Amino acid sequence: MKKNFDCIVIGYGPVGALLSIFLSKLGLSVAVIDKNLDIYPLPRAIHFDEEVMRIFQMVNLSEKISEISRIGTKGMHFVDNEDTVLMERKGSDAIGELGWQKSWYFHQPQLEKLLRYNAEKDKNFVSFLGYEAQKIFQDNNLVTVKSYSKKLKKELILHCKYLVGCDGANSITSDCIGKEIKDYGLKEKFLVLDLKVDNRYQNIKNLPDFTVQHCDKVRPVTRCYISKKRRRWEVKILPGDNEKEFLKSKSIWKFLSKWIEKKNATIERSQLYIFRSILKKKWYKNRIILAGDSAHLSPPFLGQGMCAGIRDVAVLAWRLKGFVNNKLSSHDLNNYQRERIPHVSAFIKLASEVGKIMSNPDILKKSEKSQSMRLFDFPKPRLTKGFFYNCSLSGTLFPQFVESDKRSDDTLGYEFVFLALKEDAFSDVDIDNKILLRKTAKGFLRDWIVKRKIVGLIIRPDKYIFGSATNEKNVKALVSHFYNLYRI
Ligand SMILES: Cc1cc2nc3c(=O)[nH]c(=O)nc-3n(C[C@H](O)[C@H](O)[C@H](O)COP(=O)(O)OP(=O)(O)OC[C@H]3O[C@@H](n4cnc5c(N)ncnc54)[C@H](O)[C@@H]3O)c2cc1C
Repeated sequence: MKKNFDCIVIGYGPVGALLSIFLSKLGLSVAVIDKNLDIYPLPRAIHFDEEVMRIFQMVNLSEKISEISRIGTKGMHFVDNEDTVLMERKGSDAIGELGWQKSWYFHQPQLEKLLRYNAEKDKNFVSFLGYEAQKIFQDNNLVTVKSYSKKLKKELILHCKYLVGCDGANSITSDCIGKEIKDYGLKEKFLVLDLKVDNRYQNIKNLPDFTVQHCDKVRPVTRCYISKKRRRWEVKILPGDNEKEFLKSKSIWKFLSKWIEKKNATIERSQLYIFRSILKKKWYKNRIILAGDSAHLSPPFLGQGMCAGIRDVAVLAWRLKGFVNNKLSSHDLNNYQRERIPHVSAFIKLASEVGKIMSNPDILKKSEKSQSMRLFDFPKPRLTKGFFYNCSLSGTLFPQFVESDKRSDDTLGYEFVFLALKEDAFSDVDIDNKILLRKTAKGFLRDWIVKRKIVGLIIRPDKYIFGSATNEKNVKALVSHFYNLYRI
């Protein structure tokens, strides 16, 4: 049995599964270890955004994932006790600047099944399920993980060049890196109920086809429209509640009776959660790295926790390929952390703020708040520090254009691309170098470049702009800065 891998991923949740797909597609050998044999069955993510769909596209999964997802056309409405809309995030079926619709709804176990199926198709990938990682240690060259299967009463010792802990909220990997956290202060207990509904009944048809967040000082409630067959209720549990009583089926149905009757639906899954807003301060130590919930926890009011983990994957996978192939210094892990922490913290802060408004809508009465939050959207933070060439476009996401169902990212791939107006801009790019692909811009891509008065730009595999050049002299500086960072 093979025991040495380029990368080991601890945790086969959505983040670990997607990272494994990326890494094995990049030609690295990958082993995933998970303590559970099966997919986590309890209610969790139901929403992802346009950027996440674009990341799925990077490994050719967007089409398959769109088949098991619904476009969120009507958004998220925050209402008071009189059903007056206090705040709204608009939905739309229009394709946005990243090449996809802005909101998608799905059933997490179905998505995870699809991810696992695709991970397991790759010959570079192997999984060890039912093994709990218990000890991780590293020297200058190698990371070693000791895991144990209770069922098989068997120890497993594996080695790798880099280990990524995608092992969720109670991460053992994170314990090896450091315990310092930033807590954004939200800590609330919610009961999450997933219902299978019978859409033939009129009262089910009458339910809203969007998410409603009932802002209420006494008991905030979220109601989500996942699909025609599935709906979710999230109900705040108050300190004075008799939890045991509240969780009884009779009490739950009594609570739900305001919207739905027992004969119209069945409770598919239910779970009590404590929603937290936490960011780990350190995401790596030498060859051990964090991604997903092991690095950050967001309250689910914006449906962004898993999305953040998926974004970690897109900016980490190309780096791991670079480290393993000795093209990129592992010091660049500091850039991974510098790029991701401010980005994810913008989302956690907003989700925490929204959570606080749900429990105290009076916050919105402060006039500036009500203006700025009335119509809100997800943040789009620019990455200011990291693996970039300093210029006005670096750290922003390159747009994606759609023309007759063809998406421009598909012509770029998950690669570093030097996209230029004219071929002569390529004179500084080494032809034999397979790391920086050379492409001449056509159609919308060309128009976009012309409009920005640049002659070319380097786009990273994750579609962040590395840097751009306004003239030939700049091209030289841009390309040589890239080669300084990414050795050939
Ligand atoms: C109620 C609720 C609603 C949510 N809604 C949304 C939403 O709409 N949109 C969104 O983007 N996010 C949402 N989230 C967040 C989302 O579910 C998580 O962010 C996401 O599942 C995290 O994925 P992960 O792969 O990082 O971790 P996990 O899915 O937690 O996976 C971790 C894996 O690691 C394994 N593991 C742990 N320790 C070990 C060990 N020592 N050895 C081996 N294996 C180990 C576990 O078995 C597990 O399989 C929601 C969360 C909740 C609770």
